[in-house]
Amino acid sequence: MTMLEPLEACNLTCERCGRIREYEPVLHCMLPLDDALRAVEQSGAPIVSVAGGEPTMYPQLPELLNELIKRKYFVYCCTNALLLEKLLPQVPPSKYLCWVIHLDGMEDRHDVAVARRDVWRVAMRAAKKALEQGYRVCCNSTLFKGSQKDDLYELYETVTKMGFEGIMTSAGYDFAMVPDQEVFLKRQESHDLYADILNDGALRRFRFYNNPLYPDFLKGKRHYQCTAYSNPTYTIQGWRKPCYPLASEGHIQDVNELFDASLWERYGVGKNPACANCMMHCGFESAMILKAFSSPREMAVLVKGIVSNKSGVGAS
Ligand code: SF4
Ligand code: SF4
Repeated sequence: MTMLEPLEACNLTCERCGRIREYEPVLHCMLPLDDALRAVEQSGAPIVSVAGGEPTMYPQLPELLNELIKRKYFVYCCTNALLLEKLLPQVPPSKYLCWVIHLDGMEDRHDVAVARRDVWRVAMRAAKKALEQGYRVCCNSTLFKGSQKDDLYELYETVTKMGFEGIMTSAGYDFAMVPDQEVFLKRQESHDLYADILNDGALRRFRFYNNPLYPDFLKGKRHYQCTAYSNPTYTIQGWRKPCYPLASEGHIQDVNELFDASLWERYGVGKNPACANCMMHCGFESAMILKAFSSPREMAVLVKGIVSNKSGVGAS
């Protein structure tokens, strides 16, 4: 998957956000549309996750999405949904497009997480409208210290009843620039919380969009090494090196530098302190799929999950 960030500005100021802090000097910059399309081609991945910042603030988002859809990329547009309703008439529904709405809990908890009242209500209104108009809609729900099982179940239940296609979940990455590091879960804390939340009943009741092996990874029952080179991230400053959460080696202009094996000797669990608590999709979902190709047992779990339609992997 290519992670494409056409801007880093946002209409929210979430306390746990690394992007708006890390890119503060260039928050006014926008990626030229041609550069964005060139980056997608250069990376060569069939799936594009459009994020930021808040992508709906990018003036050329309709052109970008419509062009990617025309070129038959599967596009996941990650948004806080505050501006989504206005955008819908400019981007027709397509099987290639999915809106991924940021929802970290029910109304009270989500509005605290994003540091503004009414965000949850506006986002849910936009989601309802999008679903009524035939768009694919998912949600992206990030866990932090203090995330509550009951609150999350209520959210999962609500979006499931509304017709969301799936729920993506992961522990939040502990961005170094976020002043309050106490909000982030350590690796073992993530395992403990997910062991409670992603029990068998929840996995049957709710449709998670992660691949079928990912819940066991979150619970600490499966272990993988990071393969974030499979999800290069392009921003207004170039490709982040090494990965989506981390730009410790700056930004580069040639995506091929990210595929250099020697880079990955320095990053991953147990290799770098910045990776110690990371459980991000961009690092580990592809690791599971790659490993399944050499492990018949893991491939069996993966295929069973896809066939039973509990995973968005099958839908794509
Ligand atoms: S909505 Fe997303 S990009 Fe915007 S401040 Fe919050 S976490 Fe950052
Ligand atoms: S584990 Fe992988 S995805 Fe996570 S910070 Fe390290 S290199 Fe990046």
